[in-house]
Amino acid sequence: MRIVVTGGAGFLGSHLCEALVRRGDTVLCLDDLSTGRLENIEHLRHLGCEFVRADVTRPIDVTGDVDAVAHLASPASPPDYLRLPLETLAVGSRGTENALRLARQHGARFILASTSEVYGDPLVHPQQEDYWGNVNPIGPRSVYDEAKRFAEAVTTAYRGLSVNTGILRIFNTYGPRMRPCDGRVVSSFIVQALSGEPITIYGSGDQTRSFCYVDDLVRGLVAMIDSTEAGPLNIGNPQERTVRELAELVLSITGSSSAIEYFPLPQDDPTRRQPAIARVQGALGWAPEVPIEEGLRRTVQWFAARPDAVAAAARS
Ligand code: NAD
Ligand code: UDP
Repeated sequence: MRIVVTGGAGFLGSHLCEALVRRGDTVLCLDDLSTGRLENIEHLRHLGCEFVRADVTRPIDVTGDVDAVAHLASPASPPDYLRLPLETLAVGSRGTENALRLARQHGARFILASTSEVYGDPLVHPQQEDYWGNVNPIGPRSVYDEAKRFAEAVTTAYRGLSVNTGILRIFNTYGPRMRPCDGRVVSSFIVQALSGEPITIYGSGDQTRSFCYVDDLVRGLVAMIDSTEAGPLNIGNPQERTVRELAELVLSITGSSSAIEYFPLPQDDPTRRQPAIARVQGALGWAPEVPIEEGLRRTVQWFAARPDAVAAAARS
């Protein structure tokens, strides 16, 4: 197959490009490098991964066959989307519609990388796909949450125009190739632990997330590309942890003696988050396999092999 991956130079996108070329697909990665890095996919260029620097909020024109479009372009880390509010709204809205148009022109399968953030600060736990969510439309996170909710709506409208669309709601995912300075909790705690800096817990640390290892997630993305499922399907690891438990795990895996320091909780930070995954298990036969201890060990190893990047992130 020939697959267009928007946001393919980012964390998840680069792993998806890699999984696709390794099984024999050719990939066209479209990315504006706003939060992604070319070095994430450099090693894939000779394997059939073509890169074009493009902002998908502008019309997308691709010559030749396209069998699938996986639309991952969007800032995803809270500090990134708070720094890029209008760009985030634009890529979730115009960018998604441009990617859908491309799929329609080529009669291609379309996958939307949506997010657990469509549930906002959820009042239902664990989150089932039929829950409509609890999003503050004018809060700081709304640029991301509402862009993704619009992205789901426009994807659904194109399904009504006979485009073979699928929506995946991705829950917190971590692993190698996260930007050390992206400000997400896993990368931040690992950088802090490896450099002996204090671990920065926001709020009491009692808030929860459910962390999925990237290889598991990408297996699900590929299965979704190969299927005709419409979704939305939650995809994530239901093993729920408090942020404090995550800090303790990172400290124990790294053997670090960093202190823990507490800072105010950002506005509208979700209190609990855990995916219900019965639907994705039934539809795609997908379930996560990598326990958090193992996934964190692999991720720590990857960061530890890049001391300069870790030191630079610790200083920033
Ligand atoms: P990332 O920031 O590493 O990757 C996003 C990529 O999109 C980057 O390479 C960036 O340069 C590119 N991009 C942004 N705006 C663009 C534009 N206008 N045109 C072209 N490229 C653009 O983030 P990620 O963690 O890899 O997330 C990928 C996707 O998965 C995002 O859509 C995100 O919302 C979704 N998602 C991720 C997670 C997670 O835990 N990682 C959770 C839920 C949803
Ligand atoms: N968090 C934290 N310290 C940090 C970064 C994040 O305690 O240095 C918290 C954050 O407030 C949230 C959780 O960790 O409760 C997950 O944050 P992240 O930004 O990784 O993802 P999201 O909030 O989008 O789930």
